[in-house]
Amino acid sequence: MSDPQNSPRSEPRSVLVTGGNRGIGRAIAEAFLAQGDRVAVTTRSGGAPEGALDVRCDITDPAAVEAAFAQVEEAHGPVEVLVANAGITADTLLLRMSDDDWASVIDTNLTGSFRLAKRASKGMLRLRRGRIVFISSVVGLLGSAGQVNYAASKAGLVGMARSIARELGSRSITANVVAPGFIETDMTAVLTDEQKDAIKGQVPLGRYGTADEVAQTVLWLTGPGAAYVTGAVVPVDGGLGMGH
Ligand code: NDP
Repeated sequence: MSDPQNSPRSEPRSVLVTGGNRGIGRAIAEAFLAQGDRVAVTTRSGGAPEGALDVRCDITDPAAVEAAFAQVEEAHGPVEVLVANAGITADTLLLRMSDDDWASVIDTNLTGSFRLAKRASKGMLRLRRGRIVFISSVVGLLGSAGQVNYAASKAGLVGMARSIARELGSRSITANVVAPGFIETDMTAVLTDEQKDAIKGQVPLGRYGTADEVAQTVLWLTGPGAAYVTGAVVPVDGGLGMGH
C-alpha cells in the first residue's frame, strides 16, 4: 500500500522552528535548510540562519503567534512541520521561587508550545498530515533541584504531546517529544566547570551532547522513517535519563 507518509520525501516542506537563532533551535533550522526545506525561524531578537525566513515572535503573546503563522503561511504555505524549541530557565530553589519565576517559565515553555501546536494543527488538519516535535528535557522526567518550574514545564510537554497524538493521529499528524540531556549552548554556558564535570560524571557517554545531535533526531522524527512514531519521548542524553 502506498502511503505518502512512508515514502521517501522529495518535496520540500514548510517547517517552523521556534527559537532558531542560536543553540539547539539554530542547529535544527540549519539541518532542515540543508535538506532543502522551506524554513521559518521565530525568535524575539531575530538572527535566523541564512536561508530561513526570519520572523519576530514572542511566543508568550497570542497575537504575535497568530501574526507569525500568517507571515509564514504567506511565504511558505501551511506549516507541515512544527518544532517547538524556544524555552527559558529561571532557576532557584523552591522556597525562593517567586510566582513570576514560575509563571514566566510555564508561560514560555509549556503554554507557548500549546499556542504553537494549536495554531499549527489548523493547517495540518486541512492538509491531513503534519509533524509536531516538542523539545523537552531529561529533567522533565528526572526532576532537578533548583528547577521546579522548568522541570514541570518540560514534563507537561509529554502529556500534551501524547494527548495531541491521540487527538490527531487519525489525520496522519504525529506529535513527539525530544528530551535532550546536557547540550553545549548558551543555556548551559552559565554552569561552572565544577558543575559541568559533575554532570559529565553521571552521563554514561561521559560528555555533553551537541546541538546537531539533537537536530538529527528531530530530522528523523519528522522524516519518512518515523511515520509510525507518535507520542514518543526520544532521549538525546548520552544515557543520563535511562529508565524513564
Ligand atoms: P538557548 O537559551 O540557547 O536559546 C533559547 C531560544 O529560545 C532562543 O532562540 C530564544 O530566542 C528563544 N526564546 C526564548 N524565549 C522566547 C520567547 N518568549 N519567544 C520566542 N522565542 C523565545 O537555549 P538552548 O538552545 O540551549 O535550548 C533550546 C531548547 O532545548 C529549550 O527549550 C531548552 O529548554 C531545551 N533544552 C536545552 C538543553 C541544553 O542543555 N542546552 C537540555 C535540554 C533541553 P530570543 O531570545 O531571541 O527570543
